[in-house]
Amino acid sequence: MPERRADIRNVAIIAHVDHGKTTIVDALLKQSRIFRENEQVGELILDSNPLEREKGITIMAKNAAIEHAGVRINIIDTPGHADFGGEVERVLNMADGCLLVVDAAEGPMPQTRFVLRKALELGLHPVVVINKIDRPNARPAEVLELTSDLFLELATHDYQLEFPVIYASARDGYAGTTPDIRSGDMSPLFRAILDHIPAPECDASAPFRMLVTSLLYDSYRGRIAVGRIRDGAVRPGMPIQRFAHDGAVSAFRVGQVFGFRGLDRVELESAEAGDIVAITGVPDVLIGETLAAPEVTEPLPAIALEPPAVKMTF
Ligand code: GDP
Repeated sequence: MPERRADIRNVAIIAHVDHGKTTIVDALLKQSRIFRENEQVGELILDSNPLEREKGITIMAKNAAIEHAGVRINIIDTPGHADFGGEVERVLNMADGCLLVVDAAEGPMPQTRFVLRKALELGLHPVVVINKIDRPNARPAEVLELTSDLFLELATHDYQLEFPVIYASARDGYAGTTPDIRSGDMSPLFRAILDHIPAPECDASAPFRMLVTSLLYDSYRGRIAVGRIRDGAVRPGMPIQRFAHDGAVSAFRVGQVFGFRGLDRVELESAEAGDIVAITGVPDVLIGETLAAPEVTEPLPAIALEPPAVKMTF
């Protein structure tokens, strides 16, 4: 039976370039005290390996996991600038909600619209962050209006129109529910995430299934498959199958299972439905393929685009 895992939130962060994704994740990490001194958080999060880029291989596994009030918030970075064969959808598909970051002076831009449309099509629950409210030319009321217009145009579910709005200066580390806030901390944003983004719904007792969303590379371990566990649990040494793009199904054994804590990868003895993990042991696995327990007979759909739950009235 599907259940909600109250101890997890899977959240995609989406924005036009330079509107402040990195700075927001940095501020949240700092305030959850996972931030380690001397660590260049921003660079670690968004720095892609140019060699891997060149090879056309995505390493969109720039996950950060932030603990707050006993809940692990997995922040999933989303590429906003380009769409490599459904990559944006696959990455968004790991999340139940999204943080839409909009610059308080610049307002919604083309990439804001591009990624928001995809997030809303996938049924994600949005939280709007109007960032950089410290800027002298900030115009938060107008920017909220422009952002609301986008939602009216792009929403696919009624609940997406009831988004909470958080005003923030990620640079200065504060956030609030009104645009006049000028001090404090990021806790209003943490609260909005916990209150408005649903915990993942999953079936921990079903056989293991995971869609491979991205790949990591390790010179020692080879290819590492990253994704959100849809059902069941995974453990090192467990037998699994790979459903390849060409229809072939082959048997493997899981090597190691990694989870994300802060910006680090940590080795786990097991992980369950709802968790985002990285798995070794399937050397030729590709993005978009399914890894599953031996008794599973069907791969997961590559992108779970769900139809609107309600007919929109506008
Ligand atoms: P990203 O491309 O969305 O990851 O954007 P970054 O987080 O790298 O931010 C882009 C630029 O905006 C950087 O120069 C940041 O220092 C700046 N920035 C981010 N947040 C704020 C903010 O709250 N206020 C101001 N004034 N600048 C900010």
